[in-house]
Amino acid sequence: MKDHLITALANNEIRAFAVNTTNLVEEARKTHNYYPIPTAALGRVLTAGLMMGDMLKNDDDLLTIIIEGDGPLKQIVVSADKNGIVKGYAAVPDVDLPPKENGHLNVSGAIGLGTLTVIKDYKLKTPYSSTIDLVTSEIAEDLTYYFFQSEQTPSAIGLGVLFDKESASIKAAGGFIVQLMPFTSEENIARLEKNLASITSVTDILKENPDPVHLLEKVLDGFDVVYNEKKDVFFRCDCSHENALNALKTLSTKDLEEMIKEGKDAEITCDFCGKVYKYPVSKLEKLLKKED
Ligand code: ZN
Repeated sequence: MKDHLITALANNEIRAFAVNTTNLVEEARKTHNYYPIPTAALGRVLTAGLMMGDMLKNDDDLLTIIIEGDGPLKQIVVSADKNGIVKGYAAVPDVDLPPKENGHLNVSGAIGLGTLTVIKDYKLKTPYSSTIDLVTSEIAEDLTYYFFQSEQTPSAIGLGVLFDKESASIKAAGGFIVQLMPFTSEENIARLEKNLASITSVTDILKENPDPVHLLEKVLDGFDVVYNEKKDVFFRCDCSHENALNALKTLSTKDLEEMIKEGKDAEITCDFCGKVYKYPVSKLEKLLKKED
């Protein structure tokens, strides 16, 4: 089944998003050649990023999540738009730690203590940016806290990435976000809490049936649910020669002169997809003379 995202409304009081990201997290893993822990950490943020990207207003808007911690993984950066396109990277590809007591990959240990920043770039207007301290560094709880603290929206978030040791690939990945509207009744909040308490693993549910509708049926069991939108989602980078060249243009005259003196081609590597853009010394000389 293709990866896709759905949105829904329950009893006109609860907004819900769910997405299956099994294929795209595997693609991210292969693109970056990551160990299981960086894959799981990035996969959770990619999954959340797609759902948060769906909350943006316009097609051009861009949502970026930056997690910075004092653990060995250091940093995770993910950008998503409203059209189901996401890209992202973890700063250290080969972080390896012993599993947690429950057997899960130690994502929180890899991230450590730190901050989570959400930037919403509306292109024409000043970007919105908000930073919170990480709560558990397991990502879902941190984003739940972000929504409560920065957007005053009570939410529940479930994110899962299941790495299969035998095949050394992703077996299932995905997640959900549910958000209460200000007038949600106590009765419905209690019902939702009961449903959420019964969900122990997002990936177990997706393994059973990869359709995210199946996931929301569990989260919103007993509610009157209207499904609104279904769209395919992809891991895709939009880097270009033009962007790489712009990065080169930000170098100082002194740096450019040094690079020319060394006589080596300049290489700009895209963090999001690993693509390398090469520029010969002759190009650097032109840049120095401002001929390009
Ligand atoms: Zn790229």
